[in-house]
Amino acid sequence: MADIDVVIVGAGLAGLVAARELTAAGARVRLLDKGVGPGGRLATHRIDDATLDHGAQFFTVRSDEFDDLVEHWRADGASVERWSTGFAQATDVRAGPPGVTSTAGDGHPRYVVTGGMETLAKTLARGLDVVVDTCVTAIWARDGRWRVAATGVQGMRTYDAAAVLCTAPVPQALALLDRGATVLPPDAEASLRALAYDPCLALLAVVDRDPELPTPGGVQFAEGPVRWLADNARKGVSAVPAVTLHAAGDWSATWYEAADRVVGVTLYAWLAPWLGPASVRTWQVKRWRYSQPRNPADEHVVRTDVDELPIAFAGDAFGHARVEGAARSGLAAAAALVRG
Ligand SMILES: Cc1cc2nc3c(=O)[nH]c(=O)nc-3n(C[C@H](O)[C@H](O)[C@H](O)COP(=O)(O)OP(=O)(O)OC[C@H]3O[C@@H](n4cnc5c(N)ncnc54)[C@H](O)[C@@H]3O)c2cc1C
Repeated sequence: MADIDVVIVGAGLAGLVAARELTAAGARVRLLDKGVGPGGRLATHRIDDATLDHGAQFFTVRSDEFDDLVEHWRADGASVERWSTGFAQATDVRAGPPGVTSTAGDGHPRYVVTGGMETLAKTLARGLDVVVDTCVTAIWARDGRWRVAATGVQGMRTYDAAAVLCTAPVPQALALLDRGATVLPPDAEASLRALAYDPCLALLAVVDRDPELPTPGGVQFAEGPVRWLADNARKGVSAVPAVTLHAAGDWSATWYEAADRVVGVTLYAWLAPWLGPASVRTWQVKRWRYSQPRNPADEHVVRTDVDELPIAFAGDAFGHARVEGAARSGLAAAAALVRG
């Protein structure tokens, strides 16, 4: 007899939102995540006295559904703060600060989380059954239950459940089904296999003084090898100035396997003119193999059955991308599983 109703693979935002909804509906839910803590791409890194978001940098609220959810998070103690209504716009990082074309926002509020994005995940995970440091290795159906094999600090273990929700990036989720020899219905299989993601190489740089980036402290680039740079101190996340730079997807794909030193030196050469009077004290390179979906599916969740057992797929590759898309997909996944 299984002790849980739903196993959720992945305690990123989609998994956490779905778990909270399912738990509120009375289901027994367990989340498994290979990371050292919950959050996935809501990730914050510390270097000395600096705090840097190295995945999601902020989130935008565009829908009433997400606006309501963020209000619930706040009521539950999440320290979500408004940062701006947009960022400085530039064409190409290589043009340097004179290449800034606009500092006007588009009116939609952008939010950050005090303490960094991972703090939001920790708040949302409170009271949930989250098993971290545990990598799911295979998923299959047998004898009327889902079996989810995982390896973690306690060794290998198989979790049983009536339903499974996969929120890992879709290629990673499909690899788990492949390893369990689980065959999905052809229409679900085809739509899931079509989903692809861009990688992202990130440079995290702690600097010795305010780099004087244009208001509000973040710059978006439309073209070229870099998409984003921002000062985590101007966001209110870091006690000392510390810059996150995100390379573009195509540049990141080309350089993904290069050594940190090569990636860091190349990205630093483009960053330096933006730092004004500041110098870099120390830097690190971070890699995201599945950074952002290239072609999100139209629907917020894909839910199907294998041997009459429900399985759903959710995350930022479903509906709308980014933090808002992941959260709304989590809500849709919970609703789809509660409906049965
Ligand atoms: C560099 C970068 C910059 C971004 N910037 C922004 C931004 O500024 N604004 C914005 O709105 N969005 C941004 N995003 C996107 C945003 O972070 C994501 O859309 C959102 O966090 C995705 O949440 P998710 O739950 O769908 O997936 P994830 O956060 O990826 O969660 C999936 C989880 O599955 C776990 N997992 C995977 N495989 C296994 C396994 N085998 N076993 C156990 N666990 C597993 C992972 O550890 C992870 O925790 C950015 C993303 C990146 C990478």
